[in-house]
Amino acid sequence: MVSAPQLTSAFDFHVQVIECTQCGAPVQGVPEGGQIACAYCDARIAVERRRSPRHALATPGSPHRLAPYPSDPARDAWVRSQVTTGHQSVLDIKRYYPPDLAQLAAGAGVQTWKTQYLPTLRHHWQHAVPALHHSPDDETLQHRVFWLAVRQSMGYAFLAGDVVGQPSLELRLKQRAVLETALGLLTTTFYGDALRCRLSRAAALARDLGSARAWLADCDPHPPSVDMDGEIRLAYAALYTLEGDAQATLAVLGPAGRELPIAAYAEQLFADAYRIHAYEVLGDGATATQLHARAQARFGAPLLRGAFETLNVAHQARQAAITAAQRPLIILIGVLFGLPFALAIVITIVVLVLHYGFGID
Ligand SMILES: [Zn+2]
Repeated sequence: MVSAPQLTSAFDFHVQVIECTQCGAPVQGVPEGGQIACAYCDARIAVERRRSPRHALATPGSPHRLAPYPSDPARDAWVRSQVTTGHQSVLDIKRYYPPDLAQLAAGAGVQTWKTQYLPTLRHHWQHAVPALHHSPDDETLQHRVFWLAVRQSMGYAFLAGDVVGQPSLELRLKQRAVLETALGLLTTTFYGDALRCRLSRAAALARDLGSARAWLADCDPHPPSVDMDGEIRLAYAALYTLEGDAQATLAVLGPAGRELPIAAYAEQLFADAYRIHAYEVLGDGATATQLHARAQARFGAPLLRGAFETLNVAHQARQAAITAAQRPLIILIGVLFGLPFALAIVITIVVLVLHYGFGID
């Protein structure tokens, strides 16, 4: 029986966190695998070694080093030629989903996630995982497992943002366990790197810089798929943002006016948020404001504000957005409080006039 080292964050690269095969709770072990005892149901689970295609796990000190994103103009031109209007990314969780799960692809509030979406996603997941074990080469099943895993992890992340303390950590571990369980099933497929990118982004949001680098170090920085290209570039952007390197963020996403296209909808929104943040960090408020207005016209103010808050970026734009959102409220307060005040003045004048007359005899 192997016991896991202490977690530095819920997305710690040096710990393996997967779902218990019996009860589904997140269990922790070492990346090398072995026997793990579930702390929730006491089941003994045999865990495989986590596959590390580019040896991030095997290289000593690797989490502290990551080669900079390799810039390549020919590749950028290829991406621009591929990601045009109407291009459909298979990694786009919002717009590309299993047809029978369409109603679960919509956005939701906390209660809907708790009572409806997560239990339904869980139900489909429990059928899809054994089905993929049985037919690992079935591409429809691979996409289904990927989509269900990402969608569940989004739900857990959403709920985790709503609570503090220990319940938040437990939800983060669930958010991570479902992704790493899917990674174990899909590691040799197209979806393996997409899951590593998501784990890297989650580690960056948890401010676990070493793990964010390590998850990314196992990905192909120049994948042959244009859909995967956007995932990689966004994961690098999340990492560079955490490192405070605004120039590197703009280099990997493309600066204002020369933005590199990203195929998936949510990733486009996040890329805009990171770009706005980078210009704020560089002190270029004019470009940040211009990009903010454009992103707001494209995605709508509430969605953009949600992205700023989720990623904890673009503090000036957030402040401006809050002020803009408060403006109707300020006007309403002004009207509500101003009206009785104006009425009181009018009544006073009328009373004075009636009492003293017009001063004309
Ligand atoms: Zn268990």
